[in-house]
Amino acid sequence: MTWSWSLAAQNHHTLRLGAAATADQQATAEMVLLDRRDAVVGRLRFRACRECGTGWILDVWIHDEWQRRGLGRELVHSLLALFPGFRWSTTLQTRPGRPFFTAMAEETSAPFPRGGPLCAHLSGPLTRAWRRALRLLTSRPR
Ligand SMILES: [Zn+2]
Repeated sequence: MTWSWSLAAQNHHTLRLGAAATADQQATAEMVLLDRRDAVVGRLRFRACRECGTGWILDVWIHDEWQRRGLGRELVHSLLALFPGFRWSTTLQTRPGRPFFTAMAEETSAPFPRGGPLCAHLSGPLTRAWRRALRLLTSRPR
């Protein structure tokens, strides 16, 4: 499923928000911001689990030329609007990402804890396989 709508007119450029959700609901999905020539100027990657009502923001990226115009905020707000009532967490945030999510937490009153997904469905097959392997190793009878 793909949908898009006009997001905002910024400096006479019309940006569109496009989002792609895959059939596998726990797979990584992304919302992209496109300029008039369909060039990607912003991207937010996330996973959402409808079963548990949890979401995990993997990263937010804004093109250099488009930074400091509130586009990252717009992406997060759009995401929250698409998944009403969801609890969100983020990955281990990069140094510039931390003040961003602190500000977003104040603005949206969603806490955005960092460190990982809030439910096991969101960790992905590789992480799940690792956890299983670690559990097997650590639970082996001595
Ligand atoms: Zn879940």
